[in-house]
Amino acid sequence: MLALALLLLAALARAGDVVVDMLDVGQGDAILIRTPASKNILIDAGDKGSGVVEMLTRLGVDHLDLVVSSHPHADHIGAMESVIRALPPKRYLDNGLAHTTQTYRGLMATLEANTAIVYQTAQTGQVFNLDDGARLEVLLPDSTRRFRDTRSDLNSNSVVLKLVHGDNCMIFTGDAEEPTERALVDAKVGSCAVLKVAHHGSRHSTIQPLLDLLRPSIALISVGLGNRYHHPGDETLARLEQAKATVYRTDRDGRVTVTSDGKSVRVTTLKHEDPGGALLQVAKVPKSNPPPETPTLPKSVDADPEMTPDVLEHESCPFAASRKSDVFHEAGCGNAQKINAENLVCYATKEAAAKAGRRAAGCCKP
Ligand SMILES: [Zn+2]
Ligand SMILES: [Zn+2]
Repeated sequence: MLALALLLLAALARAGDVVVDMLDVGQGDAILIRTPASKNILIDAGDKGSGVVEMLTRLGVDHLDLVVSSHPHADHIGAMESVIRALPPKRYLDNGLAHTTQTYRGLMATLEANTAIVYQTAQTGQVFNLDDGARLEVLLPDSTRRFRDTRSDLNSNSVVLKLVHGDNCMIFTGDAEEPTERALVDAKVGSCAVLKVAHHGSRHSTIQPLLDLLRPSIALISVGLGNRYHHPGDETLARLEQAKATVYRTDRDGRVTVTSDGKSVRVTTLKHEDPGGALLQVAKVPKSNPPPETPTLPKSVDADPEMTPDVLEHESCPFAASRKSDVFHEAGCGNAQKINAENLVCYATKEAAAKAGRRAAGCCKP
């Protein structure tokens, strides 16, 4: 039975597909993106004990090219340190905001100790070219316009990503709050068929103007059964229903897999991650994407037109620092050029560098 179901699953993914799994990690987020040329990207890792490493292993993930922490709350980075230890990624991206918790400090210490990992702060306009024409764009945060004094500044400054594969679009929102979503609306990010609903379906997010803009046909909610936050909110579910988006949620559907062939997407769900448990698989073909509008994306700071088959390419580095030093340089500074690639840390702005505890280098005085 299990073997048959696994065969079925394998048959569902074809060469050229981009496969996105919203893993069932209970209350939290963990999203895996796999490309046709086996690039693996993980957005968030769920809380401690989420079992995400085992899930990745079971899915055959033996390396990670890029890991993104949307923001440093425990339900997103609790299991991140174990991920970094088990599958050290080539690159690590976060929103540049520190947290006071032991979980965050432990994660940072592990990242610091692993000098092979390129650490980057997310910034509007960064583009990671994947393969088969797929690309991952950072919509937010914009470190020059941080959200402050919101319900939760850590949530509001979540890394928001847009995955584009052919005609298909998926948006990942972390725990974005209303101001974050308003910024996306103001930036006119265009329509997008698949929305990873912000903040586990909290009633404070998924605002009507965002739904009007994106017109998603598929809404993904990562949420724990019977969670104490009462996520997802009834108001949010009502707005999604009104918007005619089909809702998939991990508490009811288990792992939700969205597969893009570049033209359309299909959704499958897998109720039990436990290989010994009952395996139910439902294949659904959602309606096609809404007609694409001309997207007015935030101007890309470094869109790299060349596809790079081996490495995730992103080299926006206006301000550079070495892991081994506490100063930062202007990118053009001679001393910045000397920083070994392994030790290079990039910042989009001076403020981001300062926030990370680095001071301006005396040589170039950025
Ligand atoms: Zn969360
Ligand atoms: Zn959060």
